[in-house]
Amino acid sequence: MIPSPANLTTRPPLLRAAALSVHFPGPSGPVRAVDGITLDVRENETLALVGESGCGKSTLARALVGLQPPTAGTVLFEGHELGPLGSRARDARCRDIQMIFQDPDASLNPRLTLEASIAEPLILHERFNSKQRVRRVCDLMAQVGLAPSMRNRYPHELSGGQRQRVCIARALAVRPRLIVCDEAVSALDVSVQAQILNLLKDLQREFGLTYLFITHDLGVVRYMADRIAVMYLGQIVETGSAGDVLDHSTHPYTESLLAAVPSRDPLGHKKRIRLLGDVPSPAHPPSGCRFHTRCPKAFARCSQEMPQLYPVSSGESRCFLNEAPKDA
Ligand code: SF4
Repeated sequence: MIPSPANLTTRPPLLRAAALSVHFPGPSGPVRAVDGITLDVRENETLALVGESGCGKSTLARALVGLQPPTAGTVLFEGHELGPLGSRARDARCRDIQMIFQDPDASLNPRLTLEASIAEPLILHERFNSKQRVRRVCDLMAQVGLAPSMRNRYPHELSGGQRQRVCIARALAVRPRLIVCDEAVSALDVSVQAQILNLLKDLQREFGLTYLFITHDLGVVRYMADRIAVMYLGQIVETGSAGDVLDHSTHPYTESLLAAVPSRDPLGHKKRIRLLGDVPSPAHPPSGCRFHTRCPKAFARCSQEMPQLYPVSSGESRCFLNEAPKDA
């Protein structure tokens, strides 16, 4: 069942990033790709994580699934802390969290048939005999709209959309609860994108999946998301229900992103996010509000003090303009 906006805010998190940071060493100091992010992904929802290229969203995703060790902070699944890949706690949850990447060509071994590719996680995580495994592969192929008779083909014999369906079947193989989709449709033609997005929605309904959907494409966000988290220079700057963030944004950065997107037929026109000015380096983020160098609403305080996340209708906004007025 797809959650309604009203009950999204009350359900407990399935996955939580708690004060999570990922800093990389740089020639002139640490590059703060992810800087103290606390974020919940709730069961059965689609949370879209959006922002320009280089804002840190893919690094955050990799840290959540254990592919990138955090510099600080923790990742919790149903309240239990997950360690790095290879730790007992992470291995125990490995099958619960799967990831679909942007480029299916890079995700699939060109020397393996579709059957062998989809069976790989089954060999690792299930005790099937070969007959049961083939049956499960055929079921998975049917679930993602691929004819089981194609199972002896190789990736180069498929279209891009079919290859991404194979990646989805692989991710589904171990019956995960959360799938992180990192720009999962960005490399596909618009018509194929729509088919894959519809497939992901159908699978969510059928299996009660939770999605963390990472994308720079606000058309995709409008189509898919229940809630949205907006990232800028390693920080979350706005969260809320999809309706609130897209139609009543409370943060000037989100407003700028939305201004760059055509307002009608979001799936039919894909447009890159464009903002005036360069994105500052995460090695040297601006003082105060990190967006102040590009913000059309900036005022004196913005360059001196970092805003906290202030509560707004269905989420939070990191902008002084949303600070509650102090009592006189
Ligand atoms: Fe703009 Fe200031 Fe708000 Fe930052 S705090 S988004 S600079 S108005």
